[in-house]
Amino acid sequence: MSQHIKLFIPGPIEVSPGTFAAMAQPMIGHRSKDFQNLYAEIQPQLQTLFGTKQQVFLSTSSAWGVMEGSIRNLVKKKVLNCCCGAFSDKWLDVSRRCGKEAEAYQVEWGQPILPEEIEKRLATGEFDAMTLIHNETSTGVLNPLTEIAALKKKFPDVMFIVDSVSGFTTVPVAFDELGIDVLLTGSQKALAMPPGLALFAASEAAFQRASEISDRGYYFDFIEFRANGEKSMTPSTPCISLIYGLRHQLGVILTEGPENRYARHAKLNGMVHDWVQRNGFEFFAPEGYRSKALTCVANNRDIDVAKLNANLKADHHLVIDGGYGKLKGKTFRISNMGDETEETISSLLASLDDALAKL
Ligand SMILES: *Cc1c(COP(=O)(O)O)cnc(C)c1O
Repeated sequence: MSQHIKLFIPGPIEVSPGTFAAMAQPMIGHRSKDFQNLYAEIQPQLQTLFGTKQQVFLSTSSAWGVMEGSIRNLVKKKVLNCCCGAFSDKWLDVSRRCGKEAEAYQVEWGQPILPEEIEKRLATGEFDAMTLIHNETSTGVLNPLTEIAALKKKFPDVMFIVDSVSGFTTVPVAFDELGIDVLLTGSQKALAMPPGLALFAASEAAFQRASEISDRGYYFDFIEFRANGEKSMTPSTPCISLIYGLRHQLGVILTEGPENRYARHAKLNGMVHDWVQRNGFEFFAPEGYRSKALTCVANNRDIDVAKLNANLKADHHLVIDGGYGKLKGKTFRISNMGDETEETISSLLASLDDALAKL
């Protein structure tokens, strides 16, 4: 086996040996009672984490599948894409590629999405859907989901589509209470699983909307997901190994307890923040809007980020991220998602000190 390089990039992240072991089980037929039992067994745990009574669906795709699917299922008139970084900007592009009318509410990368700005746009009556990235992974911005959800309730006809791919299980997201219409996440971020599985919930209003749209396609058709979900099945053959891994990881998460998990992420994120300040760096995101899943560090010291990462990899067998897209070298990102502990983050920070000293 090749050298284990531990990933502190904001996805994919380190997967535990327990999760890998749980995945190494014999296949079962996806139309068998065994599969139905597996899906039904994890459903209450998924509903707890999503904060919903709706069924949580399993999609054998990366998160983008459901992000594209949400547009195809829910946009009839025009979608407002809230854009504040690479993933949210891309969603605008994807909306247009799906042949939908779409408009950006664009803020500068590093800035948050503000409820009052959304309100101005929705008040025009032009939109019947909006997309929001809860935790914009490229910039390290955590958008004010609760405030945005409160404002969105004034516009019940607008489908509220939320990507919490890198936020999910680092901070709470209550689907029912917030009035979200689609909430989606992916396996390789804070769930600490290998990539390839997306999870989502949809509201009754979302199913109603989908039923009024004829070109939903097949693979991500929400109505197919619901019809199959009623039998604890998926529309097509799912990534069964990953679902075994998910069952294991859900056990780990619920044994820790969601509240403890959020608190641990806040604490570990705070440790990284202390390191940033101790070393004279700045944060890319403004105070009050910083992610708990990762830290996007502004490279105000103009260090050689590529060299820093090369040092980390060669001497400590770990890597961080050197900045996303146009932020490459201008920022770097450190993930504290998943199963990390005070010990592993302390060790990471000591490695960073060493790699920094060797620049
Ligand atoms: C990683 C990520 C995605 C994309 O996930 P894929 O698994 O590559 O489809 C989307 N949104 C956010 C916020 C992400 O962090």
